[in-house]
Amino acid sequence: MEVTIKKAEQMKAKPDENQLGFGTIFTDHMFNMDFSVEKGWYNPRIEPYAPLIMDPSTMVLHYGQGVFEGLKAYRNQKGGIQLFRPRENFKRLNHSNHKLCIPEIDEAFAMDSLKQLISVEQEWVPSAPGTSLYIRPTVIATDPFLGVRASHTYRYFVILCPVGAYYAEGFNPVKIMVTKDHVRAVRGGVGDTKTMGNYAASLYAGEAAHEEGYTQVLWLDGVEQKYIEEVGAMNIFFVIDDELITPALSGSILPGITRDSVLALGRSWGLKVSEKRITIDEVINAHTTGHLKEIFGSGTAAVISPVGELKYGDTVISVGEGKVGPLAHKFFETIQNIQYGVTEGPEGWIEVL
Ligand SMILES: *Cc1c(COP(=O)(O)O)cnc(C)c1O
Repeated sequence: MEVTIKKAEQMKAKPDENQLGFGTIFTDHMFNMDFSVEKGWYNPRIEPYAPLIMDPSTMVLHYGQGVFEGLKAYRNQKGGIQLFRPRENFKRLNHSNHKLCIPEIDEAFAMDSLKQLISVEQEWVPSAPGTSLYIRPTVIATDPFLGVRASHTYRYFVILCPVGAYYAEGFNPVKIMVTKDHVRAVRGGVGDTKTMGNYAASLYAGEAAHEEGYTQVLWLDGVEQKYIEEVGAMNIFFVIDDELITPALSGSILPGITRDSVLALGRSWGLKVSEKRITIDEVINAHTTGHLKEIFGSGTAAVISPVGELKYGDTVISVGEGKVGPLAHKFFETIQNIQYGVTEGPEGWIEVL
């Protein structure tokens, strides 16, 4: 399929790279492609960034049949543009599509068309330290229909926004709260997909955590409420003695690409790495007995997010005396250096535009 390109007549003014936040500024163009049962995916096009006009009965607005991805393009040392394991995102997009009864998108085509879009928008990829171009591929159900069934038509679109350094104020440990009152996802559900409803379902517990001064919620499993799952939009790691532990993918945890990268690097460094079920009691216990060394989250937005405090019921534990642990630091530096082309990563992790 050939991607048609229609350029915007007027380009927006570029923002100050040192003042960038997250998710508020969008580039001049977007990618759009439609699906119908008769045509399959058709009419791939790059066109001016614009509002979507939809019927109020559009299915995604009512039943949430939609999925998305999140990845970044980085300005490398030579001034070029590169992506970090982007094919993993399209693989995961199709996993999400599959579980939400959305037709799959050819991954090689999604990759090629993304490269074309970024190339049209290359001036939007910032170069100040820690900045990047955030990429949001999204698929939504577009039938104008109020019955509950899978839609027959879909829109796939990709929007881009230049984003600032996540740690503009320094690499500071965050405080997270374990919730006993709410669950994010259950086995057999859609917790392992990036579907919209998962995030809507997480807001209530998130607000409760914010009220108590915690930035994020750490979710426990939806059945027994004792096994650790993940944080809002991050996977979670524990360093207990010399072992790096992350919850095994249970079907209700989002399989993070950063998580996978931490595991791969940890193994390549000869660390003792375990993907297994771990309870909140084991973590508290490890802390009480002095074996818990570090806790950190992993995700595209922050790469690595050290956890300095964890609250579970009336128990509050503080980890690493407010400092960033050595492993969290090493993973952060290593992954970020690979993303920005300072060092070479494992084979196939970087895709230059
Ligand atoms: C996106 C996401 C992650 C992190 O995935 P990455 O591929 O590492 O960015 C973890 N948990 C949830 C719920 C997410 O939505």
